[in-house]
Amino acid sequence: MRNRGRISFRRKSRRAHLMPALVGLEVLLASKGSKLSMLTYWVFHCSSRFLWWWGVLVFDSGALVLFHASGSLMVKWILMILLQFLPGAVSWGKEGHYATCKIAEGLLSEEASAAVKELLPDYAGGDLASLCSWPDEIRHNHIWRWTSPLHYIDTPDFKCNYGYCRDCHDLAAHKDMCVAGAIYNYTSQLTAHGLSNLENYNLTEALLFLSHFMGDIHQPLHVGFTGDAGGNTIIVRWFRRKSNLHHVWDNLIIESALKKFYSSDLATMIEIIRTKYLVDSTADISLWENCTSNQTACPNPYASESISFACKYAYRNATPGSSLGDEFFLSRLPLVEKRLVQGGVRLAATLNRIFLRPHPSISVA
Ligand SMILES: [Zn+2]
Repeated sequence: MRNRGRISFRRKSRRAHLMPALVGLEVLLASKGSKLSMLTYWVFHCSSRFLWWWGVLVFDSGALVLFHASGSLMVKWILMILLQFLPGAVSWGKEGHYATCKIAEGLLSEEASAAVKELLPDYAGGDLASLCSWPDEIRHNHIWRWTSPLHYIDTPDFKCNYGYCRDCHDLAAHKDMCVAGAIYNYTSQLTAHGLSNLENYNLTEALLFLSHFMGDIHQPLHVGFTGDAGGNTIIVRWFRRKSNLHHVWDNLIIESALKKFYSSDLATMIEIIRTKYLVDSTADISLWENCTSNQTACPNPYASESISFACKYAYRNATPGSSLGDEFFLSRLPLVEKRLVQGGVRLAATLNRIFLRPHPSISVA
C-alpha cells in the first residue's frame, strides 16, 4: 500500500495532495465528540521519495501521542477505532466517583441498601462504587451522546452564582438538560421502584446516573463559567505536567494526594477522609443531608455551593499559563476531600429518601 502512495506522490497526482487533508479531516470528525475531542494536529512531511503523515494527538491531560500512518485505509481505520478507547478527562475522575459512591454505600439504610443491590447488575457484586463511572464511559458512544450535557452546568462568566431556570439547559437551550435537572429526573424515575409504575424506565441506569451525577455536581468546576467550559480551556501546568484546570480538579489533585499522603491506596484515602468528616468532625452532617421543603432531591444548593467554590478556590490564582504546585495543591486539597465526602453523604441521604416507604412525593424545581 505504501508503494501505491509513493507512486502517486511522485506523479504529483491530485489524489496524493488531497489525501493528507482528507485523512486529517476524517480523524478530526471521528474524534469530535469522542473521548478524544480535544485537539488533533496533523503535520505532513513529504519528501521526493516518501509520503508520511505524522499526527500528534494532544489530550486534556497534556499527554501527547505521536504516530504516523501511511496511506493505507486499514491503518486509518485501526487508528480511529483505537482512539475510541483512549481515556478522556471528563468529570471527577474514576477515583473521585469511586470515593463518593463508596462513602455513600456505608451510609445507606437497610431498605436503600437492599434496593440498590437489587438494581445493580450481577457482575457488580453488590458494589455500587465499582459502577459509578459508567456514565463517563458511555457518554461518547453515539447512543448516549445526548447525556453529555447532564454532567455539568455552564453559568454566566464571572457571575459566581447559579439559577436553575437561567442555567439548566444544553447548548440548544433544551430545559432541564444539566446535572441538576438530571438528578431530579433520575430521582423521579427511582421513586417508581417497586411500584407497579406504568413508565418503562431502566432503573439500573437511573441508579448509576444519579450516583454519578451526585458526584459531578460536587466538583466545583462542574458548575463553571460558560466561556472557559468549566476550566477546560484554561491551560495550566500541574507541577511539571501540562494540563487544564478542569482536569486538575477532576483528577490531578486527587492523584497527587494519593501518591503523597496515601501510598497510592484509594481505600486508605477514602477511610481517612470519611473518618475526618463523619467521625472526628464537629460539622453538623444533618445539615448536609437535609432537603428543604420535604423534597427527595435538592441539587440546587449543591450547584450554588460549587460555583461559589469555583470562584473562591478553583479559578483563583489559576489563570491561563499558571504553574500550579504545592501551594495550590495543599490549599485546595481539603476542599476536594470535603466535596467527595459531601457528595457521598448526600447521595446516601437521597437514596434513603427514595427507597423509604411510603414514597415521599418528588418535587421538581
Ligand atoms: Zn461525569
